[in-house]
Amino acid sequence: MTESYTCPQCGHTEDRPYRVRLIILTCPVCDENGQFLHTSFHSQLEAIPKDARPSGWEEMAVDEQMQYAIREGLIEIDLTGPMEEWTQGGNYDSNQNVIESIQFLHVYKNS
Ligand SMILES: [Zn+2]
Repeated sequence: MTESYTCPQCGHTEDRPYRVRLIILTCPVCDENGQFLHTSFHSQLEAIPKDARPSGWEEMAVDEQMQYAIREGLIEIDLTGPMEEWTQGGNYDSNQNVIESIQFLHVYKNS
């Protein structure tokens, strides 16, 4: 049983054995560091009626769409509470998302 997460930049899908809201991950396809959202978010975003979407919606990254939709109350996602099921594994940050890699952490390191 795996869960699918989608790259906000290119739509590449990664499977993981655990279920969380999102994974912060460097995409193996487009090499962008981003928030891979659980695919359950995508069906909610796609269910938003066209007339409720802002102009430029199609050009927005998926994580931007999600933030907009939550801010405008178009979808209801509890981003801070626990999800229904948890499996062991992964490193969870304070919001209980999985951070697999963050390129930004290395930016300020002295070489
Ligand atoms: Zn990608």
